[in-house]
Amino acid sequence: MLENKVAIITGGTRGIGFETVKLFKENKAEVILFGSREESVSKAVEELKNIGMNVSGYWPNLSDINDIEDVVKKIYDKYKHIDILVNNAGISANKKIEDTTSLEFKNIMDLNVNAIFNTSKVVVPYMKNNGGGVILNTSSMVSIYGQSSGVGYPTSKFAVNGITKSLSRELAPFNIRVNAVAPGIIKTDMVANLKKEMIEPLIKTIPLGRIGQPRDIANAFLFLASDMASYITGEILSVDGAARS
Ligand code: NAD
Repeated sequence: MLENKVAIITGGTRGIGFETVKLFKENKAEVILFGSREESVSKAVEELKNIGMNVSGYWPNLSDINDIEDVVKKIYDKYKHIDILVNNAGISANKKIEDTTSLEFKNIMDLNVNAIFNTSKVVVPYMKNNGGGVILNTSSMVSIYGQSSGVGYPTSKFAVNGITKSLSRELAPFNIRVNAVAPGIIKTDMVANLKKEMIEPLIKTIPLGRIGQPRDIANAFLFLASDMASYITGEILSVDGAARS
């Protein structure tokens, strides 16, 4: 479904991003993964190599636009086009407001929101040059109704929806589609870090009766990245077993 496409996936070293890297490779894309540290990037690239997948990896500081520009230029020089950007890197929060520092709130906004601005700003000129492209963002079901602790996290995901909808309008004339996937509760390290008492009752309320798997989200990204979604832009696609309702 993605033959001859070049895709950059942030937060590609584990969880949802890693599964998306694998699925995009299975569908014949050239994939470049971004992670936060050299060690985790090398580990992911090695793991992929062991299953016969050749993927390159970088660890630009997503808060530093110059760093992103350098890396993206290297990728463009090698492949001569950039077709897909998946802005998936993210961190969560679950502390009450009294226990959350301004710095913690700012750090969440920096990665979950400002980094999407930075990577998109750098990649868009290349996509315009190509005659089009696809930008996909990872939102969350909490972008619909908020959550009862860790206010920075849902706040950041409401902003992700805002970036998605606004850029879809701005970039549609250039044939660049911008969509987001809003996962429910997905079995990754992010959820493993949350308290059992918080997660287990939530899983019980999911109408489809199970926790989501990273592949459930990767499948949605694959569809939205592909030409099957060529008339879809500005959409926030819930993939949550109806947990949002
Ligand atoms: P994860 O913790 O397994 O993976 C997070 C990824 O983000 C990693 O690849 C990591 O390298 C990257 N990352 C973290 N900090 C970074 C930094 N400072 N700079 C660059 N990269 C950094 O989590 P996941 O569950 O796979 O989450 C992926 C996305 O899905 C996130 O945006 C998250 O908010 C969203 N999400 C997850 C769930 C869930 O239930 N797991 C639900 C809704 C949304």
